[in-house]
Amino acid sequence: MSNSSADGFCIALVAHDAKKNDLVAWVGRHQPCLAAVRIVSTGTTGGRIQKAFPALDVTCLKSGPLGGDQQIGALICEERLDALIFFVDPLSPMPHDVDVKALTRLAIVYDLPMACSRSTADLIVESLLKQSAD
Ligand code: PGA
Repeated sequence: MSNSSADGFCIALVAHDAKKNDLVAWVGRHQPCLAAVRIVSTGTTGGRIQKAFPALDVTCLKSGPLGGDQQIGALICEERLDALIFFVDPLSPMPHDVDVKALTRLAIVYDLPMACSRSTADLIVESLLKQSAD
């Protein structure tokens, strides 16, 4: 589903609990760009984003531990995503660690732009902005 303008882009936003505040702050910084894209998100992350930024187009899937990561993986397989921003908590064990690994593995298999930290997420959004300006 790659597009030449940010309109029509669909990006997935996911954050582990310890990183949700960071992701909400990141969304706030990039609101003008994100206003032009569709966002899909795991349940709790998406709820936080919707509450903070009601004007954004956010579709909430299941919570990550209940299958939300796998739903995003399915979207990757169907080539319905343009990027995955996944703020991973590298310091805590996760009950759904296998789902997290499966999701990041699929992003690699399908060569989907994926960021697991703020600095790389910035690069992806800047790239989207640049493409939409071209
Ligand atoms: P959540 O899921 O947004 O529902 O917390 C994220 C995750 O832990 O994968």
